[in-house]
Parts: sequence; C-alpha cells; structure tokens
Amino acid sequence: MSDLFVSSEPVPPWDEVMADAMGCTRCRLSEGRTNVVWGVGRRDADLMFVGEGPGHDEDVKGEPFVGRAGQLLTRLIEGIGLSRDDVYIANVVKCRPPNNRDPQPDEIEACSPFLRAQVAHVGPKVLMTLGNFATKQLLGTTEGITKIRGREFPFRDGDAVLIPTFHPAAVLRGRGDALAHMRADFVLAKRAMRRHAGASDA
Ligand code: SF4
Repeated sequence: MSDLFVSSEPVPPWDEVMADAMGCTRCRLSEGRTNVVWGVGRRDADLMFVGEGPGHDEDVKGEPFVGRAGQLLTRLIEGIGLSRDDVYIANVVKCRPPNNRDPQPDEIEACSPFLRAQVAHVGPKVLMTLGNFATKQLLGTTEGITKIRGREFPFRDGDAVLIPTFHPAAVLRGRGDALAHMRADFVLAKRAMRRHAGASDA
C-alpha cells in the first residue's frame, strides 16, 4: 500500500477539508488552474474511481472526467448497471498540471491529504485506479498497468479491494484491446461490490 494512506492523522470533516482544497495554494499547480477539481458523486459510494489529475475540460468545468475520456468512463459505469451518481470520482491531484504533464512528487505529497480524506469519508468497497499513474501512487507499485490491471488488491486494511484498470484516455488513443479489458475490469469490480455486500458472486 502506498504511503499516501499510511497516516495516523485524524481525518478532518468533509466540508472542512473540501473548503481547504478550494482555496489551496500548497503547490505550484495552483498558479495555472482555473478551478480546483475536488471530486464528484455519492459521498458514501461503494465504488470509487481515482484518476491522475484534471485535464483542460475538467479544469474549465471544475469537475473530474467530463471530457471525452469522462464520457467513456460514464458509459463503462453504466455498462455495469450504475450511473455517475452512484459512484465517487476523484483524482490524485486537484489542479491541472500544465500541458497535462505528470504531477511531480512534491505536488502529489502536498495534495495527498485531500485524497486521503476523500477515501476515508467515502469508504468505498471497491476502488478502481484509472491508469498507470494513479495505480502506482495508490498501490505503491512499480509494475505497469498492462501487467497489473484486472487483479484485486487488499485495500483499507482488507475492508475493501483496489482494482487497477486502464485510463479511459488510453482507449481513446486506440490502444488495442484496452476497451475489452476495461469492460472486464468493471465486471470484476461489480462482482467485488456484490461480494462485499454479502450477495452472491455468481
Ligand atoms: S494540486 Fe492539490 S496541493 Fe496543489 S494547489 Fe491544487 S489542491 Fe493544493
């Protein structure tokens, strides 16, 4: 498990930590942002998604996954019988990195209390990391997404599972059979949710 989630610090109330994020200038990503992209969805969702960081459309709208990749994510969520309102969606960093570069280690560290608080408050049964970057940050792994996707990893002291999958933008870039793999990973997530709810895994 990543150091991101190894903390004995108490988690502040949701409204307090969100208000803190909305005015945050803890890292240089604050300089180029239009909006802080906090997160969206159900605060007690059983299924949570974590991507890398906001892109152009997300920065403008202040909501994660609203561009073409977001539309694909929505279709995949609907493909397992859920809607965006049933899940929670967030990113590792809340402000758009310039030119969509990867967030830097000090930026991730500065932003980590926000994601830690979101995960603690939502308390998902299944957390899906979208793409290489979020997977490496949350799982603390060096293995690439192609190798590690579609598997379940214990999360939150075994109360939940983490399932890495591709970033929807990888599918849009025409990455081979990534869409079929993503669909399979979402089915795996649905089964894991049912299992945690005590229902049949058939
Ligand atoms: S990316 Fe996170 S830490 Fe950096 S300014 Fe935005 S909210 Fe603050």
